[in-house]
Amino acid sequence: MNELNQSVSQLSGVGAQTLNRLEKLGIRVISDLIFHLPLRYEDRTRVYSIADLRVGMHALICGRVEFVDVLPRGRKSLICRIADDTGALSVRFFHFNAHQHNLFKPGTLISCFAEVRQGFSGLEMLHPDYRIITNPDADITEPRLTPVYPLTEGIGQTALRKIVKQAINLCQQNPQLLVEWIPEPILKRYNYPSLAEAINTLHAPDEAISIEAIQNGSVPALKRLAFEELLVHHLSLRISRNKARQWQAPRFVESQQQVLIEQFLNSLPFKLTGAQQRVIKEITEDCRAQNPMMRLVQGDVGSGKTIVSAYAALLAISAGYQVAVMAPTELLAEQHMRNFSLWFSGFNTQVAFLTGQIKGKARKEVLQGLEAGRVGIIIGTHALFQESVNFKHLGLIIIDEQHRFGVNQRMALREKGQQGNVRPHQLVMTATPIPRTLAMLQYSDLDVSIIDELPPGRKPIVTSVIPAERRADVIDRINSWVDKARQVYWVCTLIEESEVLECEAAEKTAEFLSLALPNVRVALIHGRMKSADKDTVMQAFKNHQIDLLVATTVIEVGVDVPNAGLMVIENPERLGLSQLHQLRGRVGRGEGDSYCLLMYQTPLSDVARQRLGILRDSNDGFIIAEKDLELRGPGEVMGTRQTGAINFRVADLARDADLLDTMPSIGEQIFKHAPQVIQPLCDRWLGASTDYAEV
Ligand code: ADP
Ligand code: MG
Repeated sequence: MNELNQSVSQLSGVGAQTLNRLEKLGIRVISDLIFHLPLRYEDRTRVYSIADLRVGMHALICGRVEFVDVLPRGRKSLICRIADDTGALSVRFFHFNAHQHNLFKPGTLISCFAEVRQGFSGLEMLHPDYRIITNPDADITEPRLTPVYPLTEGIGQTALRKIVKQAINLCQQNPQLLVEWIPEPILKRYNYPSLAEAINTLHAPDEAISIEAIQNGSVPALKRLAFEELLVHHLSLRISRNKARQWQAPRFVESQQQVLIEQFLNSLPFKLTGAQQRVIKEITEDCRAQNPMMRLVQGDVGSGKTIVSAYAALLAISAGYQVAVMAPTELLAEQHMRNFSLWFSGFNTQVAFLTGQIKGKARKEVLQGLEAGRVGIIIGTHALFQESVNFKHLGLIIIDEQHRFGVNQRMALREKGQQGNVRPHQLVMTATPIPRTLAMLQYSDLDVSIIDELPPGRKPIVTSVIPAERRADVIDRINSWVDKARQVYWVCTLIEESEVLECEAAEKTAEFLSLALPNVRVALIHGRMKSADKDTVMQAFKNHQIDLLVATTVIEVGVDVPNAGLMVIENPERLGLSQLHQLRGRVGRGEGDSYCLLMYQTPLSDVARQRLGILRDSNDGFIIAEKDLELRGPGEVMGTRQTGAINFRVADLARDADLLDTMPSIGEQIFKHAPQVIQPLCDRWLGASTDYAEV
């Protein structure tokens, strides 16, 4: 047996408790440790003069304690002033003990490593790694970069580094233990180092390797592992796609279909755009094929994806199949309910609604209707896919705003409605524009259609970036806007990571605005309101019985009120650009002008200013996503909400974008010439537990 498959309990310092904790990190056997790669690195190879420090740097400094004190103001903290020949800075601890207080006696020589921040009085470090230095001549620097690993409660960096080191030593003694699965010709072509060498380098970088080299992707060891990781994701999704080909699809072919389609199109108040027609054609072809459709429709906010999905629903019900439409929020589900009810009112089918909030008798009725086949279209949230929900003959699953659901969730849904070897068609929609290369990776298991045209008559949204100090001007602006019989959104963003607090903030803002704007009809909507209440408010806003809607980010997706052409977003600096773009997409839906005011808290960091600038200068979701990716510092974790759920261990989508392009052709080669490496590669990177492809 390969020693790397042995339990980590073999290593010294790994007792029962540590074993449990490591398990939380997904580490069970030694090879898991080897592939537990650093998140980032710290540079302790040089000591900085305090005068050279800048906000945002992670730096090692060395100096003498000038004074130490406990500050009772606000949260109790221990503060310590440290000076070298060039300047001084504060070091602050919120968690401390008497021992530390005594340790930092004035005159003590101490070294600290942490990020440099702007404090109340000059620069400061918060909770640095520190060491008391007894021998002033000792070298306190490290010869190489220090790896920083993902941690879990109860295991510190130092402990984990020691454990990883043992695993690495084992490999160094027996490099053949690390099986190379990437075919030799590919390694040669890119001049990649061997797996063993690459792994060593990442855990203990050579002395010559700098943080810059890691960030700009010029370290071959890093590139090689990123390549392997990206390849694995690509392969697993392709397997999933191939697997889907073994399923039969319901065939939406029916002689009356054409009549119904014409009736449907004629009932619409608008003509479909060229892009919508093209995508509809692609969907129609899919729905007539042998195997289930697995199609992603990507289109910027407001490009008209809903009607395209309704068209697909029409194909299904006209052939006697049922349709499930799933939305990520109740609010959006309710809106779909209104639209679909309207669009299908002239058709002989029942549209029903199901969310977690629908209980008792009403719920029973819906469930029975589905089982008996009376309900043709069911609209709801993920409650649709609970066990108690059974379909008579589900033919099509529509998932809106799919980026809000995980990849695994998306895959799990395919089993719903399976009868024998027949599986329903699946149509997923997203407005989260992601860069093309990333889409190729993330959606390798789907066919992609793009709606790249907005309905005619839309004018670009004029976006301004303004400081919160100018709130009074904003309020004036709302007044004159409402005088013109137009409507307004005021969005309160997450202040802390808590929905409760967010809702409270929105309540306060609504109160404040009602007082400040006595002639304006103000209402509030947030995620903690009852579904029926939300519906009432939304309906009233839609009917223009409300002028100003104060909302939390619950309105991020889907909500559609064309007369609302002004949106104020508070604290936009807290949100990702794609999310802001989505929010902003609630305006600009009607004929008139529309505006978005990004009202930030001062001071704004440089990067935040640049990011908001991107939004001000562009209305194109794809451009925004590309630029956002460029601006994100390398090594920063991608926000899962922004891109939909792939978290890489080594690969960095900004830094390694060049690799993404090569994946389809390399994947092709592997499938053809080395299919036997796919399974072990997937096991290595995705873990045995991952349900990556029904494989
Ligand atoms: P999204 O792609 O963001 O989901 P929606 O489907 O909500 O966009 O459509 C946005 C708005 O545009 C809706 O009010 C919809 O009725 C309208 N719409 C859709 N297609 C067209 C079209 N071809 N012409 C005019 N308006 C359209
Ligand atoms: Mg939509």
